[in-house]
Amino acid sequence: MTNVPKRDIAPDFQPEKDKGEGSIRPLSLDEFIGQKKSRENLKVFIEAAKSRQDPLDHVLLFGPPGLGKTTLAQIISREMGVGFRATSGPVISKAGDLAAILTNLQPHDVLFIDEIHRLNAAVEEILYPAMEDRQLDLIIGEGPSARSVRIDLPPFTLVAATTRSGLITRPLRERFGIPIRLEFYAPEELSQIVARGAKIIGMEITPEGAFEIARRSRGTPRIAGRLTRRVRDFAAVDNVKKVDAKIADAALLKLEVDSRGLDSMDRRYMHCIADNYGGGPAGIETISAALSEQRDVLEEVVEPYLIQCGLIVRTPRGRMISDAGYKYMGLPLPQNGRDRQMALLADLPEAEAL
Ligand code: ADP
Repeated sequence: MTNVPKRDIAPDFQPEKDKGEGSIRPLSLDEFIGQKKSRENLKVFIEAAKSRQDPLDHVLLFGPPGLGKTTLAQIISREMGVGFRATSGPVISKAGDLAAILTNLQPHDVLFIDEIHRLNAAVEEILYPAMEDRQLDLIIGEGPSARSVRIDLPPFTLVAATTRSGLITRPLRERFGIPIRLEFYAPEELSQIVARGAKIIGMEITPEGAFEIARRSRGTPRIAGRLTRRVRDFAAVDNVKKVDAKIADAALLKLEVDSRGLDSMDRRYMHCIADNYGGGPAGIETISAALSEQRDVLEEVVEPYLIQCGLIVRTPRGRMISDAGYKYMGLPLPQNGRDRQMALLADLPEAEAL
């Protein structure tokens, strides 16, 4: 993502990614917690590819930031026992950049392209024959002297990640044999992730303490990891030996993360629709201008979890606060009852909401 939100709980705010998260990152499918179905399927596909001595089919991972797409891509290369090369959509600006990456791959390597929805059309064109026929069609030179050359590529596995599956063109999507949708994690799964992370960073925590952090992590491992480290800081300063639910709660409240895991940005977003636009529908551009926040950040980081919690609804006419959302904010329902119900009923399908 180019737009890095400043809040501590944002899944893609990752100043510590290199030094802190690297060591917490699970290294094998067995260490990877949650996403049971996808994990089991992947295990089968990996075993099958290995026994055939083929590269794994191309994998498309989609889901909100911080759910483990990069981690899974690395795990795939480890489990396959092959090399790992990583890049991202916005970094590859020219067809030549991608050609250079592809021609430098070793046989069976995993090439990870993050944010594949940001790949420009010219680069995407190069990718199609590379994925399908392991061939690179390049135009060399310009004007009348231009000629096309075809280069054979080594067999490889493309693992692509996106937070916005709706923005991926159909021809590209259809070239992935293994599409995997990552879901938000259940609090019980996040509890295990918190307990594992706490152990790695040397913090003692009770199961209740881990659960307290887990249920306030917006269903997202990256946030669980970050909150665990912040709680550790508070515990260290207060000289606490073992973190329990009460200590975790106190620390999280200091970070303005409430009992549902929502932070001040979520509350600002919801109050903006409720206070300024009678609970909606309000268009995303309008909300983004009112909050001075980038539309992408709202769509990719803020909204998915609020939608998942049922606190807001995306309708064809814009975003609305749901009845549950009003309850959460402690506000009475607005008076425009019937219109509101009609608009709420026109909810968009879930796939489009993400
Ligand atoms: P994404 O690429 O989807 O934004 P990452 O793969 O970078 O997310 O994961 C973010 C952080 O969460 C990493 O530090 C990783 O260690 C942790 N993480 C993600 N998924 C899991 C999981 N299933 N079990 C344990 N830790 C996880």
